[in-house]
Amino acid sequence: MVRSLLSAAVALACVSPVMAQTPRTSAPISDVRYEITADSASVGRHQLGASMTFHVNSTAPVVLAIPAWSPGHYVLVWFARRMSQFAAEQDGAPLAWKKLDYQTWEITPRSAGTVRVSFKYLADAVDRAVAWTASNFAFFNGTNVFLYPVGRGFNWPAQVTIRTEPSWRIATGMDPAPGTNNFQASNYHDLTDHPFYVGRFAFDSTQVANKWIRLAFYPAASLTPARRDRTFDQIRKIFTAHIAVFGEAPFRNYTLFQRSDTVVNGGGLEHQASQVDEVLTSQLDAGYLPGLYSHEAFHAWNVKRLRPADMVPYRYDDAQPTTWLWVSEGVTDYYGELGTIRGGVTDSLAFFNGIGGFIASTAGAPGIAVSDAALSPWISPTDGSGGLYYPKGALIGFLLDIMIRDGSNNRSSLDHVMRTLYNNTYKRGRGFTSADWWGEVGRAAGGKSFTEFARRYVDGREPLPVDSVMRLAGMQSRSDTLREPRLGISTATDSSGLTVTGVSAGGAASAAGIRAGDRLISLGDVAITNDDAFDTFRQKYNGTALTTLPVVVRRGTETLTLQLPVRLFTRVVTVVASIPGASEKAVRIRNGIMRGTTQ
Ligand SMILES: [Zn+2]
Repeated sequence: MVRSLLSAAVALACVSPVMAQTPRTSAPISDVRYEITADSASVGRHQLGASMTFHVNSTAPVVLAIPAWSPGHYVLVWFARRMSQFAAEQDGAPLAWKKLDYQTWEITPRSAGTVRVSFKYLADAVDRAVAWTASNFAFFNGTNVFLYPVGRGFNWPAQVTIRTEPSWRIATGMDPAPGTNNFQASNYHDLTDHPFYVGRFAFDSTQVANKWIRLAFYPAASLTPARRDRTFDQIRKIFTAHIAVFGEAPFRNYTLFQRSDTVVNGGGLEHQASQVDEVLTSQLDAGYLPGLYSHEAFHAWNVKRLRPADMVPYRYDDAQPTTWLWVSEGVTDYYGELGTIRGGVTDSLAFFNGIGGFIASTAGAPGIAVSDAALSPWISPTDGSGGLYYPKGALIGFLLDIMIRDGSNNRSSLDHVMRTLYNNTYKRGRGFTSADWWGEVGRAAGGKSFTEFARRYVDGREPLPVDSVMRLAGMQSRSDTLREPRLGISTATDSSGLTVTGVSAGGAASAAGIRAGDRLISLGDVAITNDDAFDTFRQKYNGTALTTLPVVVRRGTETLTLQLPVRLFTRVVTVVASIPGASEKAVRIRNGIMRGTTQ
């Protein structure tokens, strides 16, 4: 293993005897088996027990590493941070081992035979890429706990056994293997791309296009019968729309893992046959959920299979930047919207609002190139461009879709581009290049060149030609600047109402004397019963001339009325609408986008 920053040129420039002596390639290993212990004793300590056994045919050193990140979550989190009690043994006697760096171990076998390596994994992170436990539950990603031999490639099979309580349940997309609680994968990429739920949680399944779609919800009570029926209905519609784009569902089954809590970050992480979503308990019925499910589901094709050549194959030891996250995430965001409207989960107003959101977020961000923004999640930029490749990439996807449909008289679309690239790159075992992407976009648009478009708007910093392109689809946008009151608090919601969990120093709430722990009763004359009440509050007092508003809070047994200074902040809201009397062709394009049809 060579750290990515040590390019060949740098390594040559500073030849180091230490580096030269360090063996970075493992001796070959075979018959790889993992065992993960998630029983009530281990999860009670917020720990997973992990072991790996394998066969060696000599005493040559075995070099094992644990990933630094999980694909889809483009941040180095260094899973080795959470490991402890590392040990190696052969035939019951300890083996010598040493660390080569913070995530790599070298083990020296005594003879040919079976070696066992074990460690404990701290599973207490509230993060969908990292393991987490509760008193009756464990969640983990394979990247957290599955060591791999360095320099041996990733195309070797492995088996996984889960040790747990007899009455606990296991959910994973990984293929089952003979025996109890055994699973198998034919290569390391698949092995680490099937998260596990172990313990007590709600589980249900339905069929869509001859595939089993499963729900695994924690805690179990979060999957009420009404929520189950509604979620299945949404998922069925969304998958039907996505499958129509690619012509196939490339998984044997698909699992929607969802954990709800009062402290989670909110959001999802995609996998090849599943998604792991985290939802605030107060938002279990929120209107944004189908869009989240749709986005993560579309990733089962776009990024888990069809992806930029920069990320094929994945490396796990270090960052793997690409300028193409605007396609992997942004275009997926666009299809997140398309999946819900084409499936009939949402209507055209919701679709227009979604496009309006992309326009407003792009307009409100620094004018940097989307391909530059795509490189930066690894460094968490502070210039306001973090995540810009989502809305700006989505907007570019939308504009390309219109231009392709316009250029081909609506005989082709972005769907054709996605499907052709899926067939011509992923199915042929490679990632797509710039030439693949722009070549396919140009062909779909009837032979139009997109060189200038890419130069100016994707790799360049010019404002996107939103109005002129949207007109080709009989659509227009209007942006309004709102002056909204802002409180400067964070809250958590439960059945008894909203509690203030944090107060920003210097914010309006702080000046009013609101404290963490207060229960919010009303703001001005808006009763605060759930998160939606904040929208009502902002709308009601948009541009208000008032300088203070009464705030009623419950503090312990007291009910207090405090005076909130009104502080207005600017927010851009973009409204997208149809152009009345648009041409027949523009209407065909607009309908084609929303219905997933051509002609
Ligand atoms: Zn995504």
